[in-house]
Amino acid sequence: MAEAVPYGRRTQRPLDVPDVHIVWITGGLGCDGDSVAVTAATQPSIEDVILGAIPGLPRVHLYNPVLSYEVGEELMSYWHRAERGELEPFVMVMEGSIPNESIKREGYWAAQGNDPATGEPITIPQWIDRLAPKATAVVAAGTCATYGGIHAMQGNPTGAMGLADYLGWNWKSKAGIPIVNVPGCPVQPDNFMETLLYLLYQVAGLAPMIPLDDQLRPRWLFERTVHEGCDRAGYYEQGQFATEYGSPQCLVKLGCWGPVVNCNVPKRGWMAGLGGCPNVGGICIGCTMPGFPDKFMPFMDEPPGGKLSSGVSSVYGGLIRALRGLTNETVNKEPRWRHRGSTLTTGYQPRSY
Ligand code: SF4
Ligand code: SF4
Repeated sequence: MAEAVPYGRRTQRPLDVPDVHIVWITGGLGCDGDSVAVTAATQPSIEDVILGAIPGLPRVHLYNPVLSYEVGEELMSYWHRAERGELEPFVMVMEGSIPNESIKREGYWAAQGNDPATGEPITIPQWIDRLAPKATAVVAAGTCATYGGIHAMQGNPTGAMGLADYLGWNWKSKAGIPIVNVPGCPVQPDNFMETLLYLLYQVAGLAPMIPLDDQLRPRWLFERTVHEGCDRAGYYEQGQFATEYGSPQCLVKLGCWGPVVNCNVPKRGWMAGLGGCPNVGGICIGCTMPGFPDKFMPFMDEPPGGKLSSGVSSVYGGLIRALRGLTNETVNKEPRWRHRGSTLTTGYQPRSY
């Protein structure tokens, strides 16, 4: 009888490519929401990546405090192995923003695990200093890790920042790969898993350099605005604006920032193609943006530029809407030659041969 083949071995893998490891730091200032969000991914799912269902992908091992089976010291042993260069190659994922641990006299803002030598907690900046130089690629998951997010608001006491603020915007991994930022609060599940999959292929030497924009975001995911993919954009163009929730019309007067925000959520949806903030009635508050949240506050006020553009759209859109109404009425009626009777009125002209 043939030997049973474990699920993870069904996919044909390249023989000369080593296993790839993912060391996922969740101990930054955050809510673990990005780890939770990726459990909803389907393109690909995290299970597909780890169980070997993706064609050509090397075997992948994941070490994440929220998602791994291992806990406590057993889990942290992978962090220490990565630091000693015993997990090769690995992708470092950063989740949560990075507090400035050098601005206080005692204690720590964020830490993960203890130093075996001293028994003291290892702070998140210390982990980044230990792991980032050893990682083949580094990716920041969610707006806290990418740009600082909520924790980095004006007036915050921790001096929180994003990974590129900490390592430097021109930082590159030992393989020459820049920091990759996948913002979102939380990160859109498929955006992150698609990017992670790309990096896993790249780390395995099976993909070219990931294309990034000047904010280190994957270009193909963040080059369009919310507005360009919004189900309600037709209402905006026709100058039809909601004044209360529950309306299908454009939400700009209720505080939607979609026209100036880079995010593909209305096109991609949230889970399995469903949802996507304005599509389902929620204003866009710019949660993917480097300027979030300060530059988008107060939430639920009409954005400053929105008054002018929606004012223009009201006039222009009102006229367009009226003209379209006339055309719509015309095309909603059948042509007059479709009728019963003994007379053909289609305009048919018999040919003479
Ligand atoms: S709801 Fe927002 S994103 Fe959608 S059309 Fe209106 S302004 Fe644009
Ligand atoms: S549509 Fe706006 S609020 Fe929604 S995820 Fe994208 S940036 Fe964030």
